[in-house]
Order: sequence, then C-alpha cells, then structure tokens
Amino acid sequence: MSNAIEREQTAASGETLVDVQELKTYYGGDGFFASPPVKAVDTVDFEIQRGETFGLVGESGCGKSTLGRTLVQLEQATEGSVSFDGTDITELSGPELKQWRRNAQMVFQDPESSLNDRMTVGEIIREPLDAHDWKTKADRRERVTELLSEVGLREEHYFRYPHQFSGGQRQRVGIARALALEPEFVVLDEPVSALDVSVQAKIITLLEDLQAEFDLTYLFIAHDLSVVRHICDRVAVMYLGKIMEIGDTEELYENPQNPYTQALLSAIPRPDPSVTIDRITLPGTPPSPRDPPQGCQFSTRCPAKIRPEAYADTDDEIWHAVEQLREVVRERSRMSLSTTDQLRKRLDRFSRFDDIEETVTDLFGELSVPQSVEDHVRHAVELVKDGEPKAAQTYLREEFGGVCDTTRPGHHQVSAAGRESYCHRHLDEYEDTTTVLANYVDGA
Ligand code: ADP
Ligand code: MG
Repeated sequence: MSNAIEREQTAASGETLVDVQELKTYYGGDGFFASPPVKAVDTVDFEIQRGETFGLVGESGCGKSTLGRTLVQLEQATEGSVSFDGTDITELSGPELKQWRRNAQMVFQDPESSLNDRMTVGEIIREPLDAHDWKTKADRRERVTELLSEVGLREEHYFRYPHQFSGGQRQRVGIARALALEPEFVVLDEPVSALDVSVQAKIITLLEDLQAEFDLTYLFIAHDLSVVRHICDRVAVMYLGKIMEIGDTEELYENPQNPYTQALLSAIPRPDPSVTIDRITLPGTPPSPRDPPQGCQFSTRCPAKIRPEAYADTDDEIWHAVEQLREVVRERSRMSLSTTDQLRKRLDRFSRFDDIEETVTDLFGELSVPQSVEDHVRHAVELVKDGEPKAAQTYLREEFGGVCDTTRPGHHQVSAAGRESYCHRHLDEYEDTTTVLANYVDGA
C-alpha cells in the first residue's frame, strides 16, 4: 500500500501531454510491384500524461522503436494521429515541424553508433543548438558546459571524441544532446540495454534525477521487463504492432490479465528463488508483420486460444497436432511470400520436414484421429501438395479456427484502475485466461 501512495506522488499530473489515436506506421508497400507493407505499428491508442514515465515493452521486432520514432516524428505515421498538447504533430511540416521538434527528443539504444565519431563531444551536444540557432555562439558553448555537468561529465570532456569514452559515458553524451533544447518529452529507446548492469543503474538514476529537475515526460522503451517495473508509472505491452495490455505498472506486474503478458512475465527470473512461478513457454516464433494473423495478432502462439465449438471435446493431443500442422502450413505459405522472410523466419522445429506427408505422419501417426478431423487434414495436405499452401492455410483456418483466428479482439477493461487487455477471453462467454493457462505451464 505504501508503494501505491508513493507512486501517486511521483506520477503524472493527470494532464495529457501525448495523445495517440488509431496510429499506424507501415514500411513500404507502396509502388506497383511492392510486397505487402511491414505493419510495424498497427492501430494503437494510448495517452501519456505530463510528468509520467510511460513504459513500452515487448520482444524485439514488435514495433517499439517504430512507435517511439513516430511519436517524435522521425517516422511518418501512415494513419491516425499523435497529439502533443492538443496539436496533431503528424500534420506539421516545414518550419512548424522544426519548431515543434525542440519539444520532443530521443535517446537511442546504442551509444556506440548513435554518436558521430568524427565530431567532438562538445560539437555533438551543441549540434541541435546550432541547428535551431539557439541564442549566441557563446551562450551555446556555455550551455554545453552546463549540460556536461548535468549528466555527470566534466568540462574538459568537451574536446574529446566519443570513441575515447566508455558505453555509459557515451550514453551520458546522448542524454545531454537530447536535453540541449529543453524538451518536454523524451523517448528513451532501450537507453540501458547495451550497458553493463552496474552502469545501467547509474544511468537510470541520472534519468530519474533529470526528470525531476526538468519536469520531463518519458516514454521508456525496453525489452527487459524488470527494468521497467522499477521506473515506470504505467506500461504498455506490445506484440506484432499491437498493444496487448496497458495500465498501472505495479498492478499489471502483480496480476497480468492478457495471455501474452502472462507468458512474458513468467519468463522473468525471480529474485527470490523460493517463490516459484510456473513458466509458460510460447510455441513457434512471432509471425511476419507483413502478413499478420487475421484474428488476434497473438493467436498463432497463444496458449489460451479459444477452440471452436465443434471441436471443444476433441482430445488435447489431437488438437495440439492440428495447431502444429496449421503452423507448418502457415510457414509454408509465408515462404512463397518472400525468400528473405523464408530463410530468416523458418521455424527450426519444422525445417527438417521436407514434405508435408512426413509432417502429417510425425504429427498424427501415433494418434487415433477421428474421421472428421482426418478428412480436413487430408484436404489441406492435398492443397499444399498442389502448391497452394495459402489455400490450405485458409481452409484450415475456416475449419479449425475459433474466434481468436478469425476476429480481432477488442480492448477490455480488466481492473478498477482502468487497465485494459486485448483478448477475447475477457468476454463473459469464455473461461478466463488464468484458469486456462494453468493447464499449459511447463511440465503440466
Ligand atoms: P522493436 O524496436 O520492437 O525491435 P522495430 O520498430 O525496430 O521493433 O521493428 C518493427 C518491425 O518493423 C520489424 O519487423 C522490423 O523488421 C521492421 N522495420 C523496422 N524498421 C524498418 C524499416 N526502416 N524498413 C522496413 N522495415 C522496418
Ligand atoms: Mg527497437
């Protein structure tokens, strides 16, 4: 309880600074011969309050950096709006955009490559001041000295080069540069991921001190969930371009409601080994954001996926084999999409199966498969053999797919404090996720 009270004091003003609505950021996809676009951010909505630290977590490739870059207009939104203090910044251009940019800055993950090695540290930090014609040359020089000291560096560091610094020091330079123009909002894109653990803590303390001193609002991006827990007021969990769960950090970590959040959190090593939590292992790999699932983005890997009515009583082993076959066929049809995706994304587990008949024997050979299931499997196999994996994928989805495979979920409120989770399981007609997942944990 004391924790909750403390949070209340450090947390936001209750005033919205950044308001994101129906935001999409796609890469490519235009042009006559283009392949489908990469849907890096695919319809997200959230608000960040002034003064708060808002966390964004999820596995590599789920769209975190793209979202962060879109919020500071380093990336152009494909659709939707990003309002900053009431102004839709996706509509700004020219001098208006340049003027606005002062308000929002970004700190990058890799202090190694994000700093220009041919410029001195002083020049790097001064660059945004020069670009904005900030005051006089002498003022800028003085401002840089002041910034060096704010981030824990010394005046004599002005004439050094980035390569003469450690990773932690370089990240301090990146932070000084981001703060040069006194922004209100800073996107921190995995600011400590590349640093040693001992250095991480120092940089995080620095970021917290700077936030208090300059009333900063942060979007803190991380793939490491344990970092976020300690510094973020609220957090959003992202998967394949979509926010799966969003709400108060402590509450979300204590009692996650979305199956994806539950799986992610179950994988964090616990500080206290006597408290055992059942680890949930997700099958397969995330689908390509060029070809996301038709229903829930997480449906191809979700351990709590809802079965269609007709197969509610099918034996678990057989059902599992059907799901695996669908995954194999899905991968096959993706391979015809793009050869680079094919090489990169192919599932290790299935790459040794050279033809589909063999896969089916491996999956179903030992099981007594009901005729109804077998007929559909046969039909799908014939389609694959005819070189129509996409048709086989559709056929299997139509036959064996439930609501999760066919329909996008909505965001449902899952706590009194307003936390939301994107999952069909929150509808009254389905069993809730925690009950279902209890059957799927490792070793069960
Ligand atoms: P994260 O930061 O969570 O690792 P990113 O936002 O970097 O994720 O990437 C999301 C998806 O967009 C990935 O599939 C990635 O390959 C793709 N992507 C990122 N940047 C580009 C780009 N400039 N062009 C095309 N695809 C991109
Ligand atoms: Mg990233």
